[in-house]
Amino acid sequence: MTQELHTDIVILGGGIAGLWLLNRLRQQGLGAVLLECDALGGGQTLASQGIIHGGLKYALSGVLSPASSAIAAMPERWRKCLAGEGDIDLRQTQVLAPHYYMWSSGGYRSRLKTFLGSKALRGRIDALNASSYPEFLRNKSLSGTLYKLTDFVVDTPSLVSNLSTPHADRIFRVPKEQLSLISAHKGRIDRLELNTNEGTILLSAQRYILAAGEGNGDLLSQIGIEQPAMQVRPLHMLALRNEHPHPAYVHCIGDSFGMTPRMTITSHPCKDGAWVWYIGGEIAETGVDRSADQQIAEGHKQLREVFPWVDYDRAQWASFFINRAEPKLANLQRPDTAYLHAAENVLLTWPTKLTLTPELGDSVVKTLQQQAVTANSAANDSATPAELGKYFTSANIALPRWEDLLA
Ligand SMILES: Cc1cc2nc3c(=O)[nH]c(=O)nc-3n(C[C@H](O)[C@H](O)[C@H](O)COP(=O)(O)OP(=O)(O)OC[C@H]3O[C@@H](n4cnc5c(N)ncnc54)[C@H](O)[C@@H]3O)c2cc1C
Repeated sequence: MTQELHTDIVILGGGIAGLWLLNRLRQQGLGAVLLECDALGGGQTLASQGIIHGGLKYALSGVLSPASSAIAAMPERWRKCLAGEGDIDLRQTQVLAPHYYMWSSGGYRSRLKTFLGSKALRGRIDALNASSYPEFLRNKSLSGTLYKLTDFVVDTPSLVSNLSTPHADRIFRVPKEQLSLISAHKGRIDRLELNTNEGTILLSAQRYILAAGEGNGDLLSQIGIEQPAMQVRPLHMLALRNEHPHPAYVHCIGDSFGMTPRMTITSHPCKDGAWVWYIGGEIAETGVDRSADQQIAEGHKQLREVFPWVDYDRAQWASFFINRAEPKLANLQRPDTAYLHAAENVLLTWPTKLTLTPELGDSVVKTLQQQAVTANSAANDSATPAELGKYFTSANIALPRWEDLLA
């Protein structure tokens, strides 16, 4: 059997980008379906640290660029969503930490960087007295300065659940080997071919949104696109399950010349109630050349240096490699805004940061309005989710990597 189905928008990829866009486009009255090849959030989204940044990283050089000003607006925007007053109702998303902290350990260069950052972010960063330290650092003999940022941390599994639950009937798991993009003309998608045991479904739409993170690379080559291209930045992340009574949320600013914090630490609850410290930052960037054992030994060493009062003897450690996927910029620079490229009937997206997804949502909605894409396939679309549901199951939510590794 061959069955033809139609909808307004097909979204490929069920990370934060695809799920956010599905919500925004359904609000606009558009028919849309999201196809995920595996499990929701299982790419970068559930591997992220969940920090909604206010732009500190960009200000460590002491200069506020336009990009750092744009990202500075994001914490407030997310807070509105979390209160049910923003673009998307995120009242079911858990906030793990209402503030994120930055600690400059006292070395000359780290103090300088922190000072410059605090100047550039005036009004958005507060140096704390010891009496206002968060519990994790309270009553510890901490040298240097602790700052409270406007940044905060969300629980990414609850975010993915919040975004996917209202539209579960429009989200399908379609493994890669069952999906082909049919393109007779470079850069244009004529339809998707979905192969099932019973036959083939030809799914067409007004627009196709590529929101597959690192998977966008393969989708671009299927439709013959070389430019724009993707770049990946590899990271070697660390996770540590320990019996420390207080979760930690802090950038430890180091003494290197780089502008990335030495360690960026977040804490996340496991399903069994235990807490995991999750560590990125410079250690994850430089760690790509270390083996797992070497990376764990390095993490152990650095944590002992910064938090010597914590007992690491019974800690369980894990590390894993993951890529950040982004648009390729000249000189392998890091993009600092959400990315959208619209050409033919394809919208190519990379949020580049969880934080910037609301900006991506605005750009996509605006572009579709400019392109006069409206819900003109209502009658046909209404049958599409039900028909797809006969052959494909809804996609499940992935487990965060540390749940698997430290089970
Ligand atoms: C270690 C790490 C820590 C981070 N920490 C932060 C942070 O604290 N704050 C922040 O703002 N940002 C952070 N980021 C960045 C942020 O996580 C990413 O920018 C964001 O999650 C990207 O979302 P996405 O939806 O584009 O991609 P992904 O989350 O990677 O989702 C892509 C989805 O597409 C699916 N897919 C792939 N190929 C196909 C296909 N052919 N068909 C259908 N589906 C497909 C994948 O299975 C996946 O589910 C971090 C990133 C990493 C790697």
